[in-house]
Amino acid sequence: MEVYHKDCLKCKSTFSLIHRDIPKGKEKHSPIPCVGPISLQSQVNSALSNFTYITTFVSENPTLRPDLNITNTHRCSCDSQSCSTTSYNCCIRGDGLHYVNQKLVIPEGITEPGNLIVYECNDFCSCEVKSCSNRVVQKGLRQNLAVFVKDNHSNSGIGVTSFGVRTQRFIERGSFVCELVGELVLSSDINLRLKSHYYNSKCNSGDGKKAYEPNIFELYESEEKFKILVDFQRYGNICRFIQKSSSVAPNLIPVKVFVEHSDPRFPSICFFANRDILAGEELTYG
Ligand SMILES: [Zn+2]
Ligand SMILES: [Zn+2]
Ligand SMILES: [Zn+2]
Repeated sequence: MEVYHKDCLKCKSTFSLIHRDIPKGKEKHSPIPCVGPISLQSQVNSALSNFTYITTFVSENPTLRPDLNITNTHRCSCDSQSCSTTSYNCCIRGDGLHYVNQKLVIPEGITEPGNLIVYECNDFCSCEVKSCSNRVVQKGLRQNLAVFVKDNHSNSGIGVTSFGVRTQRFIERGSFVCELVGELVLSSDINLRLKSHYYNSKCNSGDGKKAYEPNIFELYESEEKFKILVDFQRYGNICRFIQKSSSVAPNLIPVKVFVEHSDPRFPSICFFANRDILAGEELTYG
């Protein structure tokens, strides 16, 4: 396993610091450096300048907005510190997932929580922000992560698939790692983008090569004709660089979390550690 530790001489010989903080301060608690071979510095910087780092979803389509109507928003009237699975009418529901000591309790044997959902307390709840146990994702990214150059695509230039993400410190099972954000688009818009060469040179040029597949994520499974997708090409955050695992078991699981609204069409997809993750390990999801 390749590792990157901040002050390790062995690591320093393989990886150089190419970028100090990809979000440029937008992740308030956690700068995210990019490391890789110094010979690729200009290519990496060029790839990083091709997208805008965001911390909440963006969309050109005005219909792709959650319903913030208060009548549709979960809330509880628990006293300070009393939010729990046993509180009456708490946002924490008995049939959902919940936190203990800021860690998600993942039922044994479950690698894909499927439709299990977390409803975090929010501004409409009467509990105190500081002492309520049901507020984790809303506190933002707290892990010490680093983007690294995974492959050297010297012929084709560096695309989003040639990066990976490692943790620089131990992450305990159940910890919140990061929330997936990008540009919300309808599947029909993705098709239009492909036809219009929105993705530029990466589109199929008709020479028999596999058509470029935009880096997208389905926000929620639906049978509807037009699905809501997340496109990471022009806008994204750290999750844009996390690889989908094809061989080894992933160490992250996506969980649907609702904080400011309960609109089921727009869940926050949040990655949690499904096992203890050692410093230096690459993060992957399934
Ligand atoms: Zn409560
Ligand atoms: Zn609540
Ligand atoms: Zn609460």
